[in-house]
Amino acid sequence: MRVEERANPSVLEAVRRVWGFDALRPLQARAIELAVENRDGLVVLPTGGGKSLCYQTPPLVTGKVTVVLSPLIALMRDQVRGLELHGYPAAALHSGLEADEARETIARLRAGELKLILCAPERAVNPGFKSLLAELADAGRLGAIAIDEAHCISQWGHDFRPEYRRLRELREVTPGVGMQAFTATATPRVREDIVHQLGLRERGGESVVPLVGDFDRPNLTYRVRARRTDGAEQISAAIGAMHERGEGGAIVYCLSRAKTEELAGKLRAAGHDAEAYHAGLNAKVRHDVERRFTNEQLDVVCATVAFGMGIDRSNVRLVAHANLPKSVEAYQQEAGRAGRDGLEAECMLLTSPSDAARWRQLIERSAEETGATPESVAAQVGLLQEMQRFATALVCRHRALCEHFGQAFPKDNCAACDVCLGETEPEPESQRLAQMILSAVARTQQGYGAGHVVDVLRGSRGEKIARAGHDRLSVFGLLSERTRGELMAFVDQLLAAGALELGEFKTLRFTAHGAALMRGEATIRLALPMGTRQASSERRERAPRASSELEARPLDADEKRLFESLRALRKSIAEELAVPPYVVFSDATLRELCRAKPRDARAMLRVKGVGPKKVESFGERFLERLSEQF
Ligand code: ADP
Repeated sequence: MRVEERANPSVLEAVRRVWGFDALRPLQARAIELAVENRDGLVVLPTGGGKSLCYQTPPLVTGKVTVVLSPLIALMRDQVRGLELHGYPAAALHSGLEADEARETIARLRAGELKLILCAPERAVNPGFKSLLAELADAGRLGAIAIDEAHCISQWGHDFRPEYRRLRELREVTPGVGMQAFTATATPRVREDIVHQLGLRERGGESVVPLVGDFDRPNLTYRVRARRTDGAEQISAAIGAMHERGEGGAIVYCLSRAKTEELAGKLRAAGHDAEAYHAGLNAKVRHDVERRFTNEQLDVVCATVAFGMGIDRSNVRLVAHANLPKSVEAYQQEAGRAGRDGLEAECMLLTSPSDAARWRQLIERSAEETGATPESVAAQVGLLQEMQRFATALVCRHRALCEHFGQAFPKDNCAACDVCLGETEPEPESQRLAQMILSAVARTQQGYGAGHVVDVLRGSRGEKIARAGHDRLSVFGLLSERTRGELMAFVDQLLAAGALELGEFKTLRFTAHGAALMRGEATIRLALPMGTRQASSERRERAPRASSELEARPLDADEKRLFESLRALRKSIAEELAVPPYVVFSDATLRELCRAKPRDARAMLRVKGVGPKKVESFGERFLERLSEQF
């Protein structure tokens, strides 16, 4: 539910003046207030929820500077450029700067010329910077310390960075200055850890209670294909469908470096503009792919999870996972890179049971290399199991994600996931089928894997079956009319429902719940995912949905042409200014401009996302382009 919050008038005035936004998003007002009132806090907002505005606004109200700790240089650079375009003085300090650039930044900070300074954690805790912070705090000029991507502080989270642990040291040198931590992904355990590690306290001394935003992203459509058939083909079809709907980028997450390259090659062969991205490529290639994707010169990036934190392209229209992600947190964050502009976008997850086995190997290997504690390994395996359950359970995806983050989901049908869109086919004879499969597991003495059990049920005449004498079992050929893929999907669902479990060498074993099903004391619903192709053609016929922030009316043909023309203009301005296009205007703002067709600067200022500084810098050129339509 999106409820507007009452905000301090000077806060609203600043947000309107600098960014041209006419309202704050949920929790933004309260988060901004924390810093203005010098209080500690933890703010949990989903990706795209507008965390940056929460720490960028207080300096405009208090006149003091905010220090922001941020983990990635690319992220800092883009943010500084973006702010400068709004006429907001900001700078970044990180290892990518020359010594004289860093000196100049520090001099500007001392001289009171900066409102915001973004800083890498390891840099922030060096003695020189700490004494500078102490100096600013003493002089009453340090307004707040903000920690972005705060989950990096916790080993229970999915992006642990040891250097974040030292950030607490900043508190000792800046007594009385509030510290606010921000993250998109935090289970209660990670939240507690952040509060504890940073020593975040209310005025009265008790630990802060986190402000947790609305995790649902209504503009995202989630689809899970729990049995990958041909990954490249399924992804290629989804990219094709994305292009038919309009412009935008796609990110395809893969589990291994080799897979990113292989898939990018296949997608190129299918006619898509795709590149691979992973940490094994040299820095120049990686940087080039990042830039081209952000600048909308490249449509598709097949990447490992190394790609993302710094990628701020707001019109990513498809995030596909070619493999199971390692946790629901990671999934929420990666999938959350779709549709940051609030417009409709698609998240597609392809998986097969071998993905989880591969993750386990990776977790164990990395634990050996890093000497991770058994608890940390157990925590990671637990996160992985939650993700497996998410993928195989046939529960509304929006609901499952919300509930994972401890929130109730109010709707019965989200109309934006494979389950609610009816893209799964309920199996009419679920109970009987389940019993047949369980019975085949029993007859084969719980000593074989899913493939063998399914072959027995289908009546395959393989050598292994003959050798074991399984062609003489009563269950042999009992389900010969079903395909192998269908039966494998049912086995997965029995595993997900806890009726079966995997033993040594992935053999299928009974559980107590499985035994109850056999006796008819428990029931189960099995279903099958519908074909991906069919699903994507249905989707094309559906009316576009829009988040509550946007007008629901789609662009008509003339407006679409105008949109393309404004996009081209945006691109050339972005190139002149050496910034990514979304920094000039987001797609959402361009669409609004096409609908509103302002004729002068004043009318243009009424469009969401248009601030005075932008009107001054390039408003004329947009107005000119718009006037060609009259
Ligand atoms: P996060 O860091 O939480 O992922 P961002 O700070 O990048 O999200 O914000 C996502 C998008 O939402 C940006 O394009 C930003 O300009 C926009 N945004 C933020 N706050 C508002 C607001 N109050 N009204 C309209 N758009 C907003």
